[in-house]
Amino acid sequence: MPDQPSRYDILFEPVEIGPVTAPNRFYQVPHCNGLGHVHPHAEAANRKVKAEGGWGVVCTQEAEIHPSSEIWPAMEARIWDDRDLPALRLMTDAVHEHGALAGIELVYNGHHAPNRYSRVPPMAPSSIPVDCHDPVQAREMTRRDIRNLRQWYVDAARRARQVGFDIIYVYAGHDMTLLQHFLTPRYNQRQDEYGGSLVNRVRLVHETLSDVKEAVGDTCGIAFRFAVDELLGEHGIRCEDEGREIVRLLAEVPDLWDVNVSDWSNDSATARFEPQEGYQQPFTAFVKSETSKPVVAVGRFTAPDAMVTRIRQGVLDLIGCARASIADPWLPNKVRDGHVEDIRECIGCNICVASDNLMSPIRCTQNPTAGEEWRRGWHPEHTDQLPGTTSALVVGAGPAGLECAMQLAKRGADVVLAERSAEFGGRSLLESKLPGLASWIRVRDYRLHQLQKMPNVQLLPGNHLALEDIDESAFDHVYVATGARWRSCGRGRQHPTGISMSPGHLPVLTPDDILAGVETAASVIVYDDDHYYMGGVIAEALRQHGSQVALVTPAAHVSSWTINTLELERVQRHLHALGISIWLNHEVSLIEQGGVVVEQVYSQRQRTLAADAICLVTSREPQDDLYRSLIEHQQRVDTGATVQAIGDCYAPSTIAAAVFGGHQAARLPGIPLDQDSAIFTRQLPAL
Ligand code: ADP
Ligand code: SF4
Repeated sequence: MPDQPSRYDILFEPVEIGPVTAPNRFYQVPHCNGLGHVHPHAEAANRKVKAEGGWGVVCTQEAEIHPSSEIWPAMEARIWDDRDLPALRLMTDAVHEHGALAGIELVYNGHHAPNRYSRVPPMAPSSIPVDCHDPVQAREMTRRDIRNLRQWYVDAARRARQVGFDIIYVYAGHDMTLLQHFLTPRYNQRQDEYGGSLVNRVRLVHETLSDVKEAVGDTCGIAFRFAVDELLGEHGIRCEDEGREIVRLLAEVPDLWDVNVSDWSNDSATARFEPQEGYQQPFTAFVKSETSKPVVAVGRFTAPDAMVTRIRQGVLDLIGCARASIADPWLPNKVRDGHVEDIRECIGCNICVASDNLMSPIRCTQNPTAGEEWRRGWHPEHTDQLPGTTSALVVGAGPAGLECAMQLAKRGADVVLAERSAEFGGRSLLESKLPGLASWIRVRDYRLHQLQKMPNVQLLPGNHLALEDIDESAFDHVYVATGARWRSCGRGRQHPTGISMSPGHLPVLTPDDILAGVETAASVIVYDDDHYYMGGVIAEALRQHGSQVALVTPAAHVSSWTINTLELERVQRHLHALGISIWLNHEVSLIEQGGVVVEQVYSQRQRTLAADAICLVTSREPQDDLYRSLIEHQQRVDTGATVQAIGDCYAPSTIAAAVFGGHQAARLPGIPLDQDSAIFTRQLPAL
C-alpha cells in the first residue's frame, strides 16, 4: 500500500452498519451467480476471491427462506432449515478469512416463484398469476399467512446469524419479492390493514424489518434493499412520491439502505442502453437526505474517481457493485495499491446475468475465472509460473489472442503476438464502433495495457502471418486466434445449407462489410438468424447512416437471446422507435433482383420485400486456414511445437467464450481444450 495520502483514501474508511463495521466502502451487493445452494463450494470460492480482493462487504445472492417460495431451477441460496447451514458456512468462513463482512439477502419471492420444486401454491398480497408464464396462480395471503411469513423471516435471520452472517437483508426489490409486491397497489388490492393506504401497504415491510431487528439486530446489521422507483411512471412506485414517502416512513428502521430501481432489467441495465456510470443516481440520490443510516447503491461503477465523487457529494456512503466486482474481484486492492490502470472494467454486456438466467454457473466476458475459482482452481490475479523457459507465438490479437498472450506472459513465457491489422483488438475493436457497444473496447484495452508493460512480450501489429512466415521450431507453443467471418451465403439455423439466390440478385452484405465501412444502400433488409445482438445493432447502424431498414427474423422477437441479458424489451422498443420495420416469424427464402421473398414460418405465406441490399446475420465461418495448414505441416515435419486454435477460429461464439478459450489455453499449454472437461472438479451429492 502506498505510504503517501491518496485521493482514494476516503474509499478505505470504515463504515458502521448497526452493530457491525464494514472495513471500507467497497460493497459487493447481493448478486446471483448461478452457483448458490447447488454448488456450495463454488459459491464460497466465488465470494472468497472478492473478500481477498478487498471488498469490505460480500453478500450472497437472494436466499430463499421457505419452501413455499422457491424459484427452482435457478441456483439461488437457500436457508430453509438447519440443513442448509453447512453450505452457507463455507461462504461466511471464506469471506471472514479475509476480514470482510458477509451479508445474506433473505427473500420471499411471492408470485415471482412458481414453486416448480415444492409444488406449494405460491402466495401474494392478492390473487394473481405468477409472473413467468407457468399456468400457476398465487393465492391471496390470509392474516395467518402473514404471521407465518414474519416468523419465517425471523427463523431465517436467526439461522443466518448462527452461521456467521454479519449483515442480514430484508429485500423488497426487482419486482421479484413479496415485500415489494405489498408496497405497490398494482399487486396489493387488499381490503385489510395491509392494503389500501401507503401506511397500510408499508406495514408488512415495517413489521418484518422490526421483527428481524429484534431477533438479531443486537449483533447483525439489518439492511433493507428497496427499489425506490419502478420506472413505470404513474403505474408504479416513483422516487418523487411514494418511493420517497416509503423511505421517510422507514428511515431509521434498518441499519443500512441498499437502494436501486426496479425491475432487474432496469437495475442491471446494459451499457448499450445505459452507458453512464452511476445511471441510477437521479433516482436514488435523495435517500441520504431522508435517513441518518448509511446508504449503498449501484450504477456499474468501475472508476474510483466516480466513486470518490459520490461519497464527497454525500450521495452514497458505500459503493455498491455487482458486475464491477465480477469483472474485477481485485478492484479495491488495485485502488489501494495505486494500480487503478490495471482495473479490469466491466463492459456492461450482461453475459453474467445471462448465465444466471440460463441456470448455469456464472461467466463473465472480462473475467474468465469467474465461476471457475473452485472447479478449475482459477484465481483472477494469480497463476502458476510455467516451468523453465517457455516460448509461444500467438497469431491474431482479438479477445482470444490477447487473453492467451497476456496469461502466458504473466506465467513467464516469452510471447510473440502477431496481428494482421495495424490495431489490436479484433472484434472487440470493430464491434465497439457499433451503436451502444463503445464500452466493449475495454476487452482490448485492459489486455493490451497489461501486454505493453511486460518485457517478455513482443507485439507485432501489421503482421499477416502465413504458414511460410512461421518457424514453429522456434516456439514451444503456437496459438492460432484468427477469428471468424460472417457468412454471406445465409447458412444458419433456418437454412443449414444457405439461402437461395437468383441471378442478378441484390448485393449481399454481412456485418463484417458494415464494420469495414462498406458503402451501404438506400434501403437495406437485415436478416437476423443469429438472434443475439448483432442483427439489432447492425440494423441500428444502417439506420444511423440514413438507410431505410427492415429487419426480418424467423424468431418471435428481434434479438431473442437478449431475453437472457435483460435487453429484449429495450431492443424491441428501441428499434421500433428508430423507425425500423420489423418482420417477426419470417424467414428470407429467396434473394432476387430488386428484393427478397420472405415467408411466414408457420403459414408459409410468401411476399416480396423490395430493397437495394440485404445484410445477412446468420452464422460465422471460422478463419482457420492457417491453423489447418500448420496442423498438416506438423503431420509432415515434427517441429516439436504444439499448435492450438482458440476463440472464434476454433468455434465462433461470444466474446466471453473467446476470452475464456484464450485463458484456458494459456492455463493448460499443449492440452487439447476438449480434454479440460475431464479436468474440472465436480460437486457431487453426498450419498
Ligand atoms: P477472437 O474473438 O477469437 O479473438 P477476432 O476475430 O476478434 O477473434 O480476432 C481475430 C484477429 O486475428 C483479428 O484481429 C485478425 O485481424 C487477426 N488475424 C486473422 N488472420 C491473421 C493472420 N493470418 N495473421 C495475423 N493476424 C491475423
Ligand atoms: Fe460486466 Fe459483462 Fe462481466 Fe457481467 S459479464 S460483469 S456485464 S463484463
